[in-house]
Amino acid sequence: MEIEEFRKHAHDIVDWMADYMATVGERPVRAPTRPGDIADRLPPAPPEAPEPMSAILEDFKTDVLPGVTHWQHPRFFAYFPANSSPPSVLAEMLTATLGAQCMLWQTSPAGTEMETRVTDWLRQMIGLPAGFHGVIQDSASGAILCAILTARERATGWRTNEAGLSGGPPIVVYTSDQTHSATEKGAKIAGLGRENVRLIETDPETFAMRPEALEAAILRDKAAGRVPACLVANLGATGVGAMDDLDALGRIAAAHGLFAHVDAAWAGAALILEEHRHLLRGIERFDSFVFNPHKWLMTNFDCSAHFVRAPEDLIRTLSIMPAFLRSREGGEVIDYRDWSVPLGRRFRALKLWFVIRSYGVEGLRAILRRHIAWAERLEARIQASQDFELMAPRRLSLLNFRLRPAGLSDPEALDALNARLLEAVNDDGFTYLTQNRVAGRFAIRFQIGQTRTREEDVTAAWARVETIARGLAD
Ligand code: PLP
Repeated sequence: MEIEEFRKHAHDIVDWMADYMATVGERPVRAPTRPGDIADRLPPAPPEAPEPMSAILEDFKTDVLPGVTHWQHPRFFAYFPANSSPPSVLAEMLTATLGAQCMLWQTSPAGTEMETRVTDWLRQMIGLPAGFHGVIQDSASGAILCAILTARERATGWRTNEAGLSGGPPIVVYTSDQTHSATEKGAKIAGLGRENVRLIETDPETFAMRPEALEAAILRDKAAGRVPACLVANLGATGVGAMDDLDALGRIAAAHGLFAHVDAAWAGAALILEEHRHLLRGIERFDSFVFNPHKWLMTNFDCSAHFVRAPEDLIRTLSIMPAFLRSREGGEVIDYRDWSVPLGRRFRALKLWFVIRSYGVEGLRAILRRHIAWAERLEARIQASQDFELMAPRRLSLLNFRLRPAGLSDPEALDALNARLLEAVNDDGFTYLTQNRVAGRFAIRFQIGQTRTREEDVTAAWARVETIARGLAD
C-alpha cells in the first residue's frame, strides 16, 4: 500500500473509530451470534489476488462486527472490565505505527526507559513502597507464573532450571479457595503439579483466606517432607472480590520462608484512592505484586503492571543469553526480555504514559470513585428490594446478587431461576452480566468499571434486570 493511500484509509478509519466510540451504546453488548456464524462468512482459503482496502473495510463492518462482544459498551458489567480510553487508543495507533520490538534496551531505548519510568509512576500512584521495581507483563497470569517460577528456583537453591524437577520433594503453592485459576495454571506450567496447590479455606463472611488455616497447611506439608515455597494472596479475587489480610498472611509467609505474591489484577487500580490504601497494610513482607491497568485504569489490553522487590531473582530465573542477544550495553541497562516469559515485547509503556498524562492521577481517581459510588447505590437498592438479595458483601464496584422471590427457598430451584434470568438478560443484549457461584449457589455478578459508563447506564441496566425477572415470574 502506498503511503498516500494509507493516509486516506487511516483518516476514514479514525472517523469510523470516533463514531464507534460515540455510538457503541446503541449496539447489543454481547454478540448475538451462534457458534460458526462468523467463520461461515470468512472464506476457507486465503485470497491469491490483492483486494482493495475499501472491500476489506466493508467486510469488517458486515461480517466481523456482528460477532464482536462490545467490551467498551457503557452497559458492559460482565467479568472484570478490559477498559480502554481515547488517549490509550491514540497511543496504540502510534505503537502499531512504530512497530518497535522492545526486548532489549538497544532495540528501543525509549521503550525500556519509559517502561521503567511509568511503572514507577504507577508504583507511586497505588502507594507501593519504594524498593518495588516495575515491569509490564502481557497478563496477570504471566506475572503469577513468574512469581511461581521464582519461588520454585529459590526453594530449590536455583537448581531446577539446570537439573529439572525430577526426584525432589514436592514444592507447594498456597492460595485461597477464591483465587483465580491463573495460580493453578502457573503451578502446572512450572511443573509443580496441581496437586501441590493448596486452596486454603476462606472466612464464610468475608471470603478472605484464614491465616490459621494457611499456617496449619504449611506445617502439615513440612511434616510430610514437602517444600512450602509460594504464597499467592488476593486483593480483589474474581468471584466476589475477596480481600486477603496481607499483614497476617505476610507474617506467616516470612516465618516459613515462602516467596509471597499479591494478585490484585482488578482491585489494584483502586489503590490510587487513598481511602482504599489500608488494603496494602503488610505489603512490606511481600516479594511481588501485580495489577492490570488493562482492567480498570482506562488502558488498552494488554498491560499488566508487575512489581518485584528483587529483580535479580526474577532475572536469574528467566535469563537466557544466546550470542545473538548480547549487546554492548548489557549489564549497564535494563533488558526487559529477562523479566518476562516471552522474549519479544511491544512498546506498552506508551499507552500508560498517554493515559496517565491525559487524565492526570486526579482524573483517574474521579472515574474510579464514581464507579464505586454507583455500585454503593445499586447495593442499597438491592438491599431494599423485596425480590433480590446480595450474595456477598460489595467489594469496591463489584456486586453479587440473586433473584429470590418471596416463597421460593429451595436452593436448586433458586439456582435454576437465576440461571434462566442471567441467560434472558444476556440474550436481550441491553446489558451483559456474568455468573458466579457463592458458597455453592448460583449468583449473578455486576461490576461497574467501563470508561464510558454513566450512572444512567447502571440504573437502566438494573431496571432491565428487574423487568426481565418480573417476566420470568409471570
Ligand atoms: N487474577 C484475577 C483476580 C483476575 O480476575 C484475573 C482475570 O480476570 C486474572 C488474575 C487473570 O488475568 P489475566 O487475563 O491478565 O491473565
